[in-house]
Amino acid sequence: MPGDMVISLSGVGMRPEDLQTAGRHEFDTVLEQVWSTHRENRQGMVADYIPELSKAAPDDFGLAIATTNGRLHTAGNVEVPFTIQSISKALTFCLALELAGRDAVLARVGVEPSGDAFNAIVFDPVNKRPFNPMVNAGAITVAGILCEALGTGAFDFVMDRFSDAAGRRLSLDDAVYRSEAETGHRNRAIAHLLLANDVLRVPPEDALDLYFRQCSISVTASDLARIGATLANMGENPVTGRAAFELRAVRNTLAVMFTCGMYDYAGNWAYDIGVPAKSGVGGGILGVVNRQLGIATYSPRLDTRGNSVRGIASFELLAEELGLHAFDCTNMGSSFVSTLIR
Ligand code: GLU
Repeated sequence: MPGDMVISLSGVGMRPEDLQTAGRHEFDTVLEQVWSTHRENRQGMVADYIPELSKAAPDDFGLAIATTNGRLHTAGNVEVPFTIQSISKALTFCLALELAGRDAVLARVGVEPSGDAFNAIVFDPVNKRPFNPMVNAGAITVAGILCEALGTGAFDFVMDRFSDAAGRRLSLDDAVYRSEAETGHRNRAIAHLLLANDVLRVPPEDALDLYFRQCSISVTASDLARIGATLANMGENPVTGRAAFELRAVRNTLAVMFTCGMYDYAGNWAYDIGVPAKSGVGGGILGVVNRQLGIATYSPRLDTRGNSVRGIASFELLAEELGLHAFDCTNMGSSFVSTLIR
């Protein structure tokens, strides 16, 4: 029956039981193929509006897949550190949902795609909320909610949970943090408008400091894939068994990643790739295949929207080769509903 098949790179449909024995080999082969297909692509520019980001090596390119049964498959530069940047927005949103509750968060930040750039100064005209937590205005609001809930312990809490999700102790890239804090005047303007709109209820500098720090957490592509596998695994790190995120908050986070995670390319991404994802100007993209995989790409050359050029191209190929799209014919939907249909 076609529904039991998985599309493979070889074009030969494999059954799930075949994949279990051949799984490692299949993922490694796919990653290597995707990596060599795109390694010569030198389009795009490394971000330099945060001066320290311009020091990234433009040719670095890494791909990683982490599975919910604890395996990691990689190709290329998967141990090069880079800053998580906007990918942190998805994770802090998840933490805010857990700490403050869905309704309290929704009262201050919406879940509608904005169609605007990540640093746009636009708010919902009716209630003055930022459109969603994946743009800077929304993420600074979420940082404010975390500061309200946790006071001066907010950054340690964020760092602990991100580390639990990655399955190893992460650290702050102090140089990027200082560079961002020194030059983040647009984000300061946004924070003051959020205060005026009464969605930010802590001093703007407190929310901004948490925001600049969370964006400056240093990760590798392997870390990001493992964080993705933790989200895919209902918030529990598949290797350590530690719970990093709350189950219901994960569902809400993945939904917003699906609709808003890729800047003003989110619609195209949902159309072509079809997995919840979040990108950052450090060059990382994190994708999640619910209950199955975390996928990460790292390549710091960005397109004009701020997305990694080789990252998008790699995800496109991976989605095609592995049948990842949420609406692909290989994805059969809820098994619970299937039992009711039968
Ligand atoms: N820290 C960056 C900023 O606020 C994050 C941008 C991004 O990764 O989209 O500009």
